[in-house]
Amino acid sequence: MSQKGQKKTVVVGLGVSGRAVCELLLSRGAEVVATDLRDLSQFGGALDGIAGAGALLRLGGHRLEDFLSADRIIVSPGIPLDIEPLVRARSCGIEIIGELEWAWRQVSLPTVAVTGTNGKTTTTGLIGEIFKQAGRRAFVGGNIGTPLSRWLLGAQAADALVLEVSSFQLDTASTFRPDVGVLLNVTEDHLDRYASFEAYADSKFSLFSRQNKDDFAVINGADPICQRRAEQIRGRLLCFNSAGATANVRVCGTLLKLDVPGKAGMQISLEKTGLHGTHNLENTMAACLAAMCMGIGPRDIQAAVDSFEGFAHRVQWVGNWKGIDFYDDSKATNVGAVVKALEGFERPVLLLLGGRDKLGAYQPLLAPLAARGKGVFAFGEAGPKIYDCLRQTVDAGLYKDLPAAFGEAVRRAAPGDVILLSPACASFDQYAGYAQRGDHFKKLVSELRDF
Ligand code: ADP
Repeated sequence: MSQKGQKKTVVVGLGVSGRAVCELLLSRGAEVVATDLRDLSQFGGALDGIAGAGALLRLGGHRLEDFLSADRIIVSPGIPLDIEPLVRARSCGIEIIGELEWAWRQVSLPTVAVTGTNGKTTTTGLIGEIFKQAGRRAFVGGNIGTPLSRWLLGAQAADALVLEVSSFQLDTASTFRPDVGVLLNVTEDHLDRYASFEAYADSKFSLFSRQNKDDFAVINGADPICQRRAEQIRGRLLCFNSAGATANVRVCGTLLKLDVPGKAGMQISLEKTGLHGTHNLENTMAACLAAMCMGIGPRDIQAAVDSFEGFAHRVQWVGNWKGIDFYDDSKATNVGAVVKALEGFERPVLLLLGGRDKLGAYQPLLAPLAARGKGVFAFGEAGPKIYDCLRQTVDAGLYKDLPAAFGEAVRRAAPGDVILLSPACASFDQYAGYAQRGDHFKKLVSELRDF
């Protein structure tokens, strides 16, 4: 314990969620050491609030003695758990948890948690919309939008939490237990952070590890990892399956038919949905099941399915120029998302791929590219790896950046074709984030129209 008798907490990583944790701790009188590898100058004043409220800032690196003298360490999702000071602290028995775990301990509300390699944001958003239509007050956020700790600072009223949860947040949880856990899919991602794909899958499945028999586990019955590991689930298992196999929700024409034990048969029409493609069908199925588990009825679910339009940068149509359609899927930062995007088109696709590599394989793109790929335009840091992997099988070119790749794709496209930015990589080699990359693509499209 620190001299003040308050717990001494070291907060590692001072991004949006780390700063919120600091503020919340300080408002409760805790002693806080706030540390980040970045220098003060890189924060542009963002740390003034916590410094003014009494946090001790340790910037430009971490100090081992801070970690070893802590009562508790709270890490941000971006911090690898194998850095030296964390390894040493762990070996001394010091508690190391994540922002979500810590914030969740401060609330006592029914919790829906959504994870998966892809579709988390869309599904979480749709569940949030269903709660809204049902007149139920839910906090919707977590890994996307507002961190739970930031919301707690505002102390807004809510009847439930609808949380998007990443694998990094699950890795630093020790009591987090959702009443309804949703696992959408598990495909290769973040191999720069995990020792193997199985280790990543373990992380995703840990969503269910503390559930009891009354909790609900909603999983994708068509996903090989979900199928293989379903027996680990102790809660009430509900499956969705877009491939038509037996499940608690299946699609018949434009209807979703839900079949959940203890609930009368229920149908949801997809005629007015704004979410397209098989992947979004899966997201919608998962959201419907999760809402049912929370006691929400078909009328409110239907209203939300009809009104929810999804989010930008996810296979978003951004324009047509001389008969060529342009789609921004900048949020596709792994191969699994790109496969789904390609499968959604019947027309020839010119695909812009590249950015920061996440050490996964690009081979799964070969089959959908063989079916509808007119060309691959590889750019950025990962460009050479992508080019080497795909060029034997598809017409591929290597470009230094997005504008260069875009320019060549436009020259090669014909009326009726699709130019798709679905990069399969992180954006951080050349952009601040996926949204900035997508906005750049949109700007390139809008500049075409100026000619
Ligand atoms: P996440 O929050 O998990 O990143 P998003 O809803 O933001 O998920 O979508 C990210 C990317 O994944 C987009 O390219 C989107 O088109 C794609 N995607 C969305 N849902 C799915 C799904 N169920 N399966 C595969 N890809 C998906």
